[in-house]
Amino acid sequence: MDKFEILKKLPTPCYVIDEEALLRNLKILQSVEKNAGCHILLAQKAFSSYCTYPLISEYISGTTASGIFEAKLAREEMGNRQVHVFSPAYKDEDFDELLKICDHIVFNSFSQWKHFRQKALQHPEIEFGLRINPEYSEIETDIYNPCFANSRLGITLENFEENELDGISGLHFHTMCEQGAETLERTIVHIEEKFGKYLHRMKWLNFGGGHHITKPDYNVEKLISIVRHMKEKYKLDIYIEPGEAVAIDAGFLVSTVLDLTKNGMNLGILDTSAACHMPDVLEMPYRPFIIGSELPDILPYTYRFGGPTCLAGDIIGDYSFDHKLAIGEKLIFTDMAMYSIVKNNTFNGMPLPSIYLLKADGNTVLVKKFGYEDFKSRL
Ligand SMILES: *Cc1c(COP(=O)(O)O)cnc(C)c1O
Repeated sequence: MDKFEILKKLPTPCYVIDEEALLRNLKILQSVEKNAGCHILLAQKAFSSYCTYPLISEYISGTTASGIFEAKLAREEMGNRQVHVFSPAYKDEDFDELLKICDHIVFNSFSQWKHFRQKALQHPEIEFGLRINPEYSEIETDIYNPCFANSRLGITLENFEENELDGISGLHFHTMCEQGAETLERTIVHIEEKFGKYLHRMKWLNFGGGHHITKPDYNVEKLISIVRHMKEKYKLDIYIEPGEAVAIDAGFLVSTVLDLTKNGMNLGILDTSAACHMPDVLEMPYRPFIIGSELPDILPYTYRFGGPTCLAGDIIGDYSFDHKLAIGEKLIFTDMAMYSIVKNNTFNGMPLPSIYLLKADGNTVLVKKFGYEDFKSRL
């Protein structure tokens, strides 16, 4: 049976993680690790469906976490692979626990480093690093730009305390978002110019995330040559921690048309919500793709789709189809594995979509089903 026919038979709304697509991404990332001689870590904030961690752990070096919960999840579910963590600020009680879990701990400021240094230095098995802000990025949307004016993320050169580096073995930067190796190449120039003198004293450098490595037009050769350049010039181990690139195009959200109405145009109300089930559609913002659709007015029947919440702006987008839609029809949204499952919520009492895994052999497995108790238990 056709993949999309399988998806349309599932109860909606549901996310479906596509194991075959995930594997395609992982194989590319594995080849970068091998050919560049670097380490690639899954940034769990983009995708932490841990049913796939055994598979992911076969291909890449490990994961990175944004705090104690993601670090714990990685340690529990990804066996003995590396667990790194970066947070803008750690709490004392979390830090004690992180010391038992993590291979690398990255600090966002010298004051955090000095606060935790004494405890940290009792753990020679852990590597400690600092996040720097090179004050260079090519991200246009401020909400996704760690280098915008007065950003709290990373230490600028002006605030870098070169006499406090004892015990620090690496530097970390994260200044990219859905970008190519050309952006990395230009960014590295600024990293070297500003922080090159400190890199000579380090063991490792972490390039952060935002590298669109598994997109078809990404220049993998350029990435590899940048990694090699930094490795050789400064004698560094290189880490890259993509989120998107691991799970890009590796999942679907299947939905049902609940009602069709009109107000100046055709409207469709679905059993899925932009605000609750794909919040990046509103936050980023972007227009997710629906299988079999085109941009508005390309095909004869155009609809604006929205969710069943009371938020007026809970609008997914405008789409055209070659046929008149029917109530009960299933729609399949693509690229819904990353930054969707991890960000969903139950605003308006919206039920959470179930999670299925579409195995490489074509079988679907129910991973999680949510109900009223999941809504109630958080309130
Ligand atoms: C968000 C983030 C990542 C992952 O970014 P992607 O855009 O998903 O690749 C990696 N590292 C840090 C510190 C981040 O904040």
